[in-house]
Amino acid sequence: MWQQRIHKMEQTAVRVGIEPEFRMAAIRRVLVPPTGTIHCSALNEKGEMSGTTTTSGLAWKIPGRLGDSPIIGAGCYTDQDIGSAGATGSGEENIKVSGAHTIVENMRRGMSPLEAGMDALKRIARNYNNDRNRLRFIDMTYYVLRKDGAYAGVSLWTGYDPTTPHRIAIHDGTRRLEQTVALFQGTSNEWPPMPDIPK
Ligand code: ASP
Repeated sequence: MWQQRIHKMEQTAVRVGIEPEFRMAAIRRVLVPPTGTIHCSALNEKGEMSGTTTTSGLAWKIPGRLGDSPIIGAGCYTDQDIGSAGATGSGEENIKVSGAHTIVENMRRGMSPLEAGMDALKRIARNYNNDRNRLRFIDMTYYVLRKDGAYAGVSLWTGYDPTTPHRIAIHDGTRRLEQTVALFQGTSNEWPPMPDIPK
């Protein structure tokens, strides 16, 4: 039904006055929304920490849904004594475990960034009795930075598909992408499921 759908959207694009050269790009943006939440934690040369999480980039959200991003302690938490953490993924699950705050508090009690992040992921899994069939419809990536510069990127699953593992971007003089450490090996399922979109 893609042809039909695209044709209908072309008519809408004409009606709302989108110029012909921009129509396909506009349609693609509706079909594959260029959205997505991202977190960034930073440590400057003075040892000051900061953290930010963009307000939820989830496509087709229920009107009024906030997600975890704007909730301090869930999508983002930073303090000047211990470190900073943030999240992208299934917001409701993250709110239930106060993910970012849990991670910073874990580090306060001596866990490494990796252990602290893994513990928060395990709390999400525990809420589903570790049932992977249900957990497959959830995913979570945590970005963790400690006050001394130690960091970790962890995720519930390896990635959304086998060829695209979850990764975090690091800049500590050199820029690079690093694959997250996953609690479960395998891919998560998108929910609600999306049909393949033609190239
Ligand atoms: N965490 C966001 C939310 O649940 C979604 C995302 O990370 O893209 O609203």
